[in-house]
Amino acid sequence: MWQSHGFHMFPADHPGNPECVGAHHPERPCNGQRGKHPCGRWSVLASDGPVKLRAMFSRGMRNIGVACKASGLLVVDEDQPGAFREYAAGVGQVVEDTFTVTTAKGCHRYYRQPEGVELGNGVGALKGRGIDVRGARGLGGYVIGPGSVHETGVIYQPVDMAAPILPAPAWLVEALQAQPVAAFSGDHRKSLVSDGKGRPYKVLTGLVQTVLEATPGSDRNSRLFWSASRMFEHAGQGLFPSESGRAALLEAARRVGLADGEAEATLNSAHRNARGR
Ligand SMILES: [Zn+2]
Repeated sequence: MWQSHGFHMFPADHPGNPECVGAHHPERPCNGQRGKHPCGRWSVLASDGPVKLRAMFSRGMRNIGVACKASGLLVVDEDQPGAFREYAAGVGQVVEDTFTVTTAKGCHRYYRQPEGVELGNGVGALKGRGIDVRGARGLGGYVIGPGSVHETGVIYQPVDMAAPILPAPAWLVEALQAQPVAAFSGDHRKSLVSDGKGRPYKVLTGLVQTVLEATPGSDRNSRLFWSASRMFEHAGQGLFPSESGRAALLEAARRVGLADGEAEATLNSAHRNARGR
């Protein structure tokens, strides 16, 4: 029924099943997460086709997962009731009534992704406010959709079935694109680099810092390319595993607002370049 909203959906575990039917590793328990695990590779399964949906949802009790990217959605997940209105009021704005689904703890506010930008799962200026955002960066994120059941028995319920999904307001888009100040602090830099001491740490921290100091819209990619090239050289000499270097630089690229796809492409090209030497 939600296809009319443009939702691309996939089945997820339903807490009424004796055991989780999600496709996660059996050794990883789903403490507090029953009813949220996708039944398979959700980003591939997600569909708005009635035939495919009927087949996927006819295998027993299932919750509905909504893939944000495929659906063109930006969903604001508010865990602390009132937090989003409070943020809005602080920047002189009012939250208008968009399609909203109440959850066990708060609510999901559904917005349309803005044209030309892929807003991701980062929270930007909303950081630390009990607000989470699911969007379109990389594979994108998903939310458990209306009509689903939370493990507490609470049903994800639309506040108003007929409410339209509004375009993401400009002030929200701006807030999500802003880099939280803490991203540039020493503590954050450390958290990007797992091993906290020795030469490997120093080298990798320097490379991460080079990316973090980029100016959006001008030299992010060239800085990432330079740092990645050095990183692969050092990794090639066994200073640290290239996976750790890659993960740290990818996260730094995210912090300066580079889309995952773009950052991956730059990392891959730096890798090819380093191997060619
Ligand atoms: Zn599970």
